[in-house]
Amino acid sequence: MKFDELNLHQSLTKAIKELKYETPTSIQQQAIPIILNNKDVLGSAQTGTGKTAAFALPILHHLINQKNSSKKIKTLVVTPTRELAIQIAENFTYYAKYTNITNTVIFGGVKQGSQTDRLKKGVDILVATPGRLLDLMGQGYISLNDIGFFVLDEADRMLDMGFINDVKKILEKLPMTDNHCFFQLQCQKI
Ligand code: AMP
Repeated sequence: MKFDELNLHQSLTKAIKELKYETPTSIQQQAIPIILNNKDVLGSAQTGTGKTAAFALPILHHLINQKNSSKKIKTLVVTPTRELAIQIAENFTYYAKYTNITNTVIFGGVKQGSQTDRLKKGVDILVATPGRLLDLMGQGYISLNDIGFFVLDEADRMLDMGFINDVKKILEKLPMTDNHCFFQLQCQKI
């Protein structure tokens, strides 16, 4: 299978070509058509299998095609560690190079000033670790009212790390209508 067969927006296939991705990986072949079709996904993939692009590309495709160009947060990705959060945000930036879809990343352990400054300007996609997300939501910097796509990345690791109550609190704040959820499980060995 070639990326062209997935019918992703041409600005995305252009960025993918530049990254020298030739064929979609197994998780991408399976997940991308389902997400393009607006269905929820529970995916399980080993490290390095291209799981980030499996959700990032179809979400970007939807955001490009949406008429709503307001810079309200429309996609939320929650992930357990700062390193993963930064990596995911970088991937969104690469793939969205030829679009006007923006992202930012927030995580704990650092001062919040530069993160809240960025949020105030408005952003389409937010990648976050759970604690800082809840903190900034509590302070009124983040609203989840416009979220259409929600990704729980490395959901199993998140639970192992004791984030269950934080995840529950985040889920409670998601709007209940027209919301698509993708749960991504990380497996070292399958
Ligand atoms: P991930 O599993 O999302 O952390 O991705 C692992 C690495 O594979 C990253 O460096 C991606 O840029 C790269 N990658 C993702 N999808 C593909 C693909 N279809 N072809 C080649 N490399 C890819």
